[in-house]
Amino acid sequence: MVKNRPNKSMLTPADIKKFKAALLAKRNEILSNVVSMENETLRRERRDLSNIPADISDMATENDDLENILGLMESERKILAEIDYALRCIEDGTYGICEGKGEQIPRERLEAIPWTRYCVGCAKLLEKKLHARKDYNNHDELYQDESN
Ligand SMILES: [Zn+2]
Repeated sequence: MVKNRPNKSMLTPADIKKFKAALLAKRNEILSNVVSMENETLRRERRDLSNIPADISDMATENDDLENILGLMESERKILAEIDYALRCIEDGTYGICEGKGEQIPRERLEAIPWTRYCVGCAKLLEKKLHARKDYNNHDELYQDESN
């Protein structure tokens, strides 16, 4: 849990409207990307069953591509989850508030990454901790020892 987190964002209703539109646009873009990547994966899987690769190097390339696609889908899905979270924050009026120390995230940063939960400083701190702890999956947990 983040302490001293303001209840209301400093962003104007016009800002919120703009960021919400950006989030929804990105959400649609990712959804259609994921669908086409899934189709591509299925297509390859079907082909793998019916075709025996001409040689080993072709097969390796195919598998690398598949890995890349799966990796991309994974990261797109993560962004999708962040976008959904940001949209919920818009609903409860906490959008644009850094989850690290509760400060307002600068507008320019939100324009660059509308689904970000953190200001630049906290994002860097988080990244450092991510490298230190590869098995992390809980943002709140990362900040608990920070407030002691
Ligand atoms: Zn912050």
